[in-house]
Amino acid sequence: MTQRTLVLIKPDAVRRGLVGEILGRFEAKGLTIVALEHRAIDAEMADAHYAEHVEQPWYPPLREFAVSGPLVSLVLEGDEAIAVVRLLNGKTDGRAADPGTIRGDLSLSNRENLVHASDSEESSAREIALWFPSL
Ligand code: ADP
Ligand code: MG
Repeated sequence: MTQRTLVLIKPDAVRRGLVGEILGRFEAKGLTIVALEHRAIDAEMADAHYAEHVEQPWYPPLREFAVSGPLVSLVLEGDEAIAVVRLLNGKTDGRAADPGTIRGDLSLSNRENLVHASDSEESSAREIALWFPSL
């Protein structure tokens, strides 16, 4: 089933010069980029994106991180794209993520973990509407 998923290449990845490396993995897998933007976000946008997490004790530093510099937002499309991109990203904590995944190969942190991807069809629809309202 063809799906779309919302991906963020987070500020740590932009700072570290890993945008090309990460986009290359998605493209090499066969996913199609249907929208892409380089932008910074404010705290209000961070809260909207991470609505499910705003009450977590670790949320305030996550918000600081999310607004700490530019990021790249994109929509990827392909067969089973939501699950496929989650697999390519790897487990949330870069220290526990499998080698071969983006986080497993490139992150040593549970916060600064380089990438975000929608986790369900419901969150994909919500997040694409939030980040790319014209799609
Ligand atoms: P994922 O990005 O894998 O879907 P979550 O939705 O659980 O993970 O969390 C959203 C983001 O919040 C993570 O990608 C990470 O940046 C951050 N985060 C999650 N859990 C923690 C934690 N225990 N401590 C610090 N940051 C966290
Ligand atoms: Mg999540």
